[in-house]
Amino acid sequence: MKHTVKTVENMTINKVAVIGAGVMGSAIAAHLANAGCQVLLLDQESADADNPSAFAVSALTRLQKQKPPALMHKRFLKKIRPGNLRDHCQDLGQCDWVIEAIIEDLSAKQALYDRIEPFLSENCWVSSNTSTLPVAKLIEGRSAQFCQNFLITHFFNPPRYMRLVELILPSHAQSEAVHVLSDFITRKLGKTIIPCQDRPGFIANRLGTFWLLTALQQSLAHQMNLEQVDYLLSKPFGIPKTGVFGLMDLVGLDLIPLVGQSLAKLLPTTDAYHQIYQCPPMIQKMIETGYTGRKGKGGFYRLQSIEGQKTKQVIDLQTGKYQNVSRQKPASLAIFKRRQSPQQNLRDFLTGPTADQGFCRDVIYPLLAYAANLVPEVSESPNDIDLAMRLGYGWEYGPFELIDMLGADWLCQQMAGQDISVPPLLQQAAEAGFYRFSAVPERQELRVDAQYHPVRQMDRQIDLSPRSGRKPVQKWPGGSLWDVGDDLACLTLENPHAALDQQSLTAIAASLEIVGQTYRGLIIHQTGPNFSVGANLGAALFMYNLGLTPDIADLIQAGQQMFLQLRHAPFPVIGAASGMALGGGCELLMHMDGIQAHSELYMGLVETGVGLVPAWGGCAALLERWAERQTAGLHPNGPIALSQKPFELIGMAQVSQSAWEAQDMGFLRPQDRISANRDHLIADAKQYALDLLAAGYQPPTDISVSLAGSSGAAALALYLGGLLQQGKITAHDHHIGTALAHILTGTSEDLDRSADHLQPIQLTQIREAEKDAFLQLLDHPATLARIEHMLATSKPLRN
Ligand code: NAD
Repeated sequence: MKHTVKTVENMTINKVAVIGAGVMGSAIAAHLANAGCQVLLLDQESADADNPSAFAVSALTRLQKQKPPALMHKRFLKKIRPGNLRDHCQDLGQCDWVIEAIIEDLSAKQALYDRIEPFLSENCWVSSNTSTLPVAKLIEGRSAQFCQNFLITHFFNPPRYMRLVELILPSHAQSEAVHVLSDFITRKLGKTIIPCQDRPGFIANRLGTFWLLTALQQSLAHQMNLEQVDYLLSKPFGIPKTGVFGLMDLVGLDLIPLVGQSLAKLLPTTDAYHQIYQCPPMIQKMIETGYTGRKGKGGFYRLQSIEGQKTKQVIDLQTGKYQNVSRQKPASLAIFKRRQSPQQNLRDFLTGPTADQGFCRDVIYPLLAYAANLVPEVSESPNDIDLAMRLGYGWEYGPFELIDMLGADWLCQQMAGQDISVPPLLQQAAEAGFYRFSAVPERQELRVDAQYHPVRQMDRQIDLSPRSGRKPVQKWPGGSLWDVGDDLACLTLENPHAALDQQSLTAIAASLEIVGQTYRGLIIHQTGPNFSVGANLGAALFMYNLGLTPDIADLIQAGQQMFLQLRHAPFPVIGAASGMALGGGCELLMHMDGIQAHSELYMGLVETGVGLVPAWGGCAALLERWAERQTAGLHPNGPIALSQKPFELIGMAQVSQSAWEAQDMGFLRPQDRISANRDHLIADAKQYALDLLAAGYQPPTDISVSLAGSSGAAALALYLGGLLQQGKITAHDHHIGTALAHILTGTSEDLDRSADHLQPIQLTQIREAEKDAFLQLLDHPATLARIEHMLATSKPLRN
């Protein structure tokens, strides 16, 4: 084979093959399809002569049922072609990248590389998704060409949602050529790449496995109740609520001995891992009997049908018997409710006298010591280790951030008191911690040379989180305004639980004023996971219960006016949105000139779920969007067709499962833009605003729409009556649906004149109708019951 040098010019990534159609391979294939690639999904040839590609074919069937979905849109499925290694190796020759995701077994992986190498083109990347095996072992004895094109790209489960990819290169790799692949993974697959040393388990699994196995061993030693362990080792330390045992159920108990043994084989005997590595007989027995976690009959937890009720149970590791979960949090966690600083609460918790607190000490101190000992073996950067745990395991802060929260000097003293040998790097951090800010401000990290170094900056990331150390131009209780360069400003909404209220409106109003005087455009963003879950229902209910209905009417009026002011501002306003954008959050976005959406955007007008209708201009804005689609030939013409789609979307409180779906639903306009990488959202939104300015931005003018009037209302009434008769909706659903039908057909009682399709109606009138319907519905006991239920349980009530 000719040995060519990879260059940016001779590399593109359009066709990708994934080999191994199991849990990871099929989901990686789906995510490549999400990014627009043509994907070939291969597995072993099946014994079924009529269907030799049965493994890959059934993986595609499973993909369509997967929850949460691996595909961002069902139309992406046809980008994946199933096949098998007997018949389709030839097709590998057209691929730009081949990803191996077969069983975690070195000899099986090496045998597969033997088999595929003759078919690969000289510019094709080959990467393994191995969780533990070093790259040097995987390519032992292979040709120079193969080695030059080989690397490890370690995706996390589920690959669509977990943002980390660990990248491990052979020692002689050409890093400038890898840049093309890294760029593709970052921009198109939306991942954050962390370069790792070629060490077993790389970063996240090396530390993550140590954490899980330490917790398992200490749970046995302390005879802990596993449900209590998951409470203790989650929220207090910023770890997702699956904790330890919930997480092992999620990834599969059968992975514990596989990954555990692989690390035990590869790590030197001096590594502290060997002191905690074990797979207790009880777990072996669970795996053998099919209790492999969520994918099996159950795991540490299981769902059991008791007297017709699905009941969650947890296993007792001493007896092997299951018992119902108590849902009682350990009393020792009450410490975190005190109004002390987070540092004081954590310190007091970890030094407390109870058995639970002793257990936590025995897990957390060894974990933090192990993390400090991993520098520079797995990475010279503590920040990369923190980032890997945040993005790969969903931790809110990584081990070094946790150490800084506790105070490194304090932790050194505690460890010494517990006879834990204090790692040298931790001792160095005792003076000033792992992180500090220079005057610039620039975030710096402590490394093993005892010097502080700037942390690695990500391309296209404009970090406005508290971690960045940046200072806003202005700060209000509802948000902060930042200068993001190019004469553009960004407002970050900062209300608790991402709910919109009077304070959010005040922050928007103040931002509009400042931007009008000093900047050329505004971006509105939320640094937390969700753009906004909607208006603050708790505050609305509180006002209602105090008899302050006029104040609620004022709040709706103020919201409508504010959103219109934003819409007609003389400069472009772009929403940079990710996660949930529900109810009022969706309405806010629909009043902007453009939306730069993260591909994970869950957008919808969900007010009917709490017995209401959108009243901050949401009905009018959605009608406008569907009228535009009609003009562009994207939706059938006619007034009934115009009302019908918004009626379905609002009436059924439909929420997009991705930005691509939001585009289909009309929440995003065709010209709105999608970013695969959440970290690029603000930079991409800036570009959107700059493009609008370059095109000579003019604020939009209010349009009027032709609505169906009474004939449309009669058609929707007939439809609603049918659903009620068939028992598909409740009487209150019918009541809300009727109010919505009147708004969307222009037949609400208080309108100056009822719409008819010959005389277009101003959207201002629709907004008035929304407000009136909202206030009438709020007075209904069934609506109040829905709101109270939602606030108490976070689930809708179908009354
Ligand atoms: P899996 O058991 O779900 O799937 C493996 C697939 O590979 C199966 O479809 C099997 O038929 C196929 N296969 C097995 N041997 C083969 C061979 N010799 N040739 C061709 N196909 C073969 O496994 P998985 O969980 O998807 O793991 C795949 C890889 O990804 C492993 O290296 C694993 O360590 C790694 N990984 C797994 C996870 C996870 O959470 N499951 C996370 C990150 C990385």
